[in-house]
Amino acid sequence: MDKCSFCGRARKDTNLLIAGVSGHICDSCIEQAYGILEEEFKKNNSFDMKELKLLKPAEIKNFLDLYVIGQDEAKKFLSVAVYNHYKRLMQHDRGDDVEIEKSNIILVGETGTGKTLLARTIARMLHVPFTIVDATVLTEAGYVGEDIESILTRLLQAADYNVEAAEKGIVFIDEIDKIARKGDNPSITRDVSGEGVQQGLLKLLEGAIVNVPPQGGRKHPEQKMIPVNTKNILFICGGAFDGIERKIGQRLNTKVVGYMASKSKDQIDTENLLQYITPQDLKSFGLIPEIIGRLPVLTYLHPLKRNTLRKILTEPKNSIIKQYEKLFDIDGIKLSFDEEVLDYIVDKAVEFKLGARGLRSICETIMIDPMFEAPSIKKKELVISIKFAKDKIEHANIALLKAS
Ligand code: ADP
Repeated sequence: MDKCSFCGRARKDTNLLIAGVSGHICDSCIEQAYGILEEEFKKNNSFDMKELKLLKPAEIKNFLDLYVIGQDEAKKFLSVAVYNHYKRLMQHDRGDDVEIEKSNIILVGETGTGKTLLARTIARMLHVPFTIVDATVLTEAGYVGEDIESILTRLLQAADYNVEAAEKGIVFIDEIDKIARKGDNPSITRDVSGEGVQQGLLKLLEGAIVNVPPQGGRKHPEQKMIPVNTKNILFICGGAFDGIERKIGQRLNTKVVGYMASKSKDQIDTENLLQYITPQDLKSFGLIPEIIGRLPVLTYLHPLKRNTLRKILTEPKNSIIKQYEKLFDIDGIKLSFDEEVLDYIVDKAVEFKLGARGLRSICETIMIDPMFEAPSIKKKELVISIKFAKDKIEHANIALLKAS
């Protein structure tokens, strides 16, 4: 008589008995096994900090290389900062008395050069809770906008409310330049979205125990606050700092002192002044010295040149082109692009000044019709030709392309 090989129930006592090669399993055992599976899965996916593997800086950089093209200086700085940060956490557990200070990071570079991508990739590699916040929505408590604490609400949410995990997570604060003080002199009147926010942020960057509303916002005044210690949260800030080159240029021209003294003026690469950025320039831009002091790792990203854009299109592990190929592959269609098409996409991104973000919108414009039609016409292969691509872009609404 057939019976479940796990619980021994006879077929008549089960709702369903499935036969395997050398045994049977009943519906209730399947359910139970599924429960175990889910539990295990959750465990593996939860942020178990003891599992945090301390990768060496070179290993971190290698991982970044898989997803981010170029930006070697930024990668190197980030790899070392992240390595030191987590080394510091581990040393902490050993109860040593030399305390290594936290190394929050600030990345300066035009929009669309990969700042967010770098931070996201680091978090993906480390399996720590990660969140991105936009500094422009932050205001001082009591004003319209989001309180500074909302940053931690998001991190808590990303950590599934596992406070211990959130306390070792990474926060990416985008557009940090937008909370710079307007004008160089300290504010006389109140500066709701500038200096006040910087002061609020300072507390988080330094490390403090902050009471965080778990649901965020002010709509739930009854919610119980969760205390979160920010001491071991790594903050990575990013900003375009539009116009900072001028300040760097001025500084380089007026007083070539310090470590730049050995560089004569004509050795300065005026095409890319960002590489000479110092904390002093951030101060001239309007960040308060205390904030700058809490962001000791300062690095920059290069503007994306043509050949970098071309690589971004095809080389990263999840490059845009690979994503389209995969999408079509799921429908059983082998998609390919003529080389000329790829160059053309890059040309257009450069022409429209869209940077890397533009690559995607240009590709979408070319691919929308094939994506719509191909699955219904049972094709096995599709080659995107230059004629086809040009036709799509020339008939596209350019304003729409630029807006995306
Ligand atoms: P930022 O934060 O500097 O404004 P993002 O990191 O959001 O820019 O970049 C926007 C998009 O452009 C990314 O999602 C990615 O697809 C692409 N991108 C930008 N820079 C790079 C790069 N160096 N390597 C690979 N992709 C990049």
